[in-house]
Amino acid sequence: TTVPANEAFSLEAIGHIQSDYPDKFGIPRQPGLAPAARAELVLEGAYADPLAVRGLDAFSHLWLTFVFHQSPERWTPLVRPPRLGGNAKVGVFASRSTHRPNRLGLSLVELTGIETRGGVRLRLAGCDLVSGTPVLDIKPYLPWAEARPEARAGFAPEPPPRVAVGFEAAARAALACRPDGDELSALICQVLAQDPRPAYHRDKGAAERLYGVRLRDVDVRFRAVGDGLRVVEIAPA
Ligand code: SAM
Repeated sequence: TTVPANEAFSLEAIGHIQSDYPDKFGIPRQPGLAPAARAELVLEGAYADPLAVRGLDAFSHLWLTFVFHQSPERWTPLVRPPRLGGNAKVGVFASRSTHRPNRLGLSLVELTGIETRGGVRLRLAGCDLVSGTPVLDIKPYLPWAEARPEARAGFAPEPPPRVAVGFEAAARAALACRPDGDELSALICQVLAQDPRPAYHRDKGAAERLYGVRLRDVDVRFRAVGDGLRVVEIAPA
């Protein structure tokens, strides 16, 4: 049999993500790095059928296949992983780059609950997806088949280093006023610990610069202080 050189497939989203991440900026580069991040996968149309998720609540973690819908469709064979400082290049298939053929993403997320009244919504923790991400498929994670702690992991052999995160009094006060203050505080710490600043801003001299990351319904403003980051203000988005 011959396989057409450019076989095309048509795929349909089974649902969309609603997450703590309204923007791409600041989202950790892999799932699980910010376990405080909450999201829901809202199933749609024929897929919003409780029968389709029967038995899923017996699994604690899921694989989501999704589309990097905010990435351009063009791709190049070589990419510059942020992990390598944005200078060295590797093949796109040796990376988890969002700029890839078919724009397909794969994330392992924690399933914390399933709501089947008035639609089907999966509650998720630790996902690395921007709100609005179209999801193509869900599969339960099988640790005995898929966990491989002995595996070699190329240029990313261990989790990325974390930076210290502190809060100024005004930011603490803003958190104290919110019913979800503790949870939001944990989310901010986990996200900023990944140092979302572009690599070329991490040199000395950038300390005066104010950065902003949108999380949940707030704008988190922060700056570099020494080797860490300090939250200056938390304002409604
Ligand atoms: N775990 C996934 C994978 O390996 O396929 C994602 C890895 S990718 C390096 C993670 C980054 O994708 C996040 O930091 C975020 O900025 C970006 N991202 C998340 N959702 C996206 C979307 N729908 N479109 C484009 N980029 C997205």
